[in-house]
Amino acid sequence: MSVRKYVCPACKQKTGVDILYGMPSHEAFEMAERKEIALGGCCIDIEGPERSCTSCGHEWRIKRQEIKFEFK
Ligand SMILES: [Zn+2]
Repeated sequence: MSVRKYVCPACKQKTGVDILYGMPSHEAFEMAERKEIALGGCCIDIEGPERSCTSCGHEWRIKRQEIKFEFK
């Protein structure tokens, strides 16, 4: 699983991370502790935000042009 950081539209810092939905693995918990991802909870909300800022707590949605799953 690759770690990506995104520019937060609220505070303009590159501290936005992907929100992981579903039951997190042990690795996911550790990544969340390092603020590499955010945990969205067990319930998958398709209307929920995909990204979360670890600086200001802002959460936002991204445009979904295509549904893409990455398995690395
Ligand atoms: Zn922010």
